[in-house]
Amino acid sequence: MKLKEIIPSYRDLMGVKAVYGRSPGPEGVMAFGSHGNDPNERSYYSHGESVARRALTTPYFITIGGGERVLPEYDGRVLALVRASPVYGRTEAFVRMEETRKRLEQWPVAIIITEMYTIEGEPLLVEDLGFPDKSILANAFDGVRFVDEQMNLLWERLHEYEVTPRRDISPPPRFYDPGKLTLAWSQYPTISAREGDVRWETTKKLERSSKAAKAAKDRNNASNGGRYVCEGCGLADETRSLFDAHHLHPLAAGPRLSTIDSYAVLCVLCHRWAHYKSTDPLVPLTVPELQSVRTGKVKA
Ligand SMILES: [Zn+2]
Ligand SMILES: [Zn+2]
Repeated sequence: MKLKEIIPSYRDLMGVKAVYGRSPGPEGVMAFGSHGNDPNERSYYSHGESVARRALTTPYFITIGGGERVLPEYDGRVLALVRASPVYGRTEAFVRMEETRKRLEQWPVAIIITEMYTIEGEPLLVEDLGFPDKSILANAFDGVRFVDEQMNLLWERLHEYEVTPRRDISPPPRFYDPGKLTLAWSQYPTISAREGDVRWETTKKLERSSKAAKAAKDRNNASNGGRYVCEGCGLADETRSLFDAHHLHPLAAGPRLSTIDSYAVLCVLCHRWAHYKSTDPLVPLTVPELQSVRTGKVKA
């Protein structure tokens, strides 16, 4: 898929953010510095809040390696297209792994991101895209910055580039996109298993109703010589109804997006596993996790 299919014009971009390197995954957060030192003050969150607010209308921004802590190999490199949610709060409230917490310690405010796409070849701003310098990143460390001419040029240079969804990154546990600006104090909401069943119903509806879901099945079929092949267990068969298109982040997806690459094609059994064998009813198993439990061959 080309970048322009997600971002039809430069005005559909929120802007650019400087990052120190490639996001290691798997936790879908993007962290910022705080404003002041008191987490009980609303202003503490202003960098995250600004991004979360803009996510309501222009959820996508582009990350580029830059800043003091950038690893040399990423300096000036266009790394990813990121989709932000309107949920922000303390970084430590959103991450579950100790390792991620440590890594993000110096950036105590975060927004939840629902998707990330790598950009083909991770081009360099100056050498590959012909920018005169890296000034597009000025002041893009604690926020997402949009300067009209620079964003126009960036889109012009990037819109034909291929983008690929990172399937190893997903939003935190129990996250869903509430569709409004939200300061979250913890991972939420807390839901019961009973409600989890209702979620599964909702998910199935969302997955079925999408044109992109159908397109994902068509593509799977076309690229496998007339059979469908399950991405979880490898089952191959000609019968379309044995396979579902499964949204990788169904409950975080919100109303705005469904592209063909948002879906994995799964056999009905793997699809049930994806939703029911997960420890969190709002976050299905990832495709690598599913492959691991279904075939024991692939490590997540
Ligand atoms: Zn399967
Ligand atoms: Zn599903």
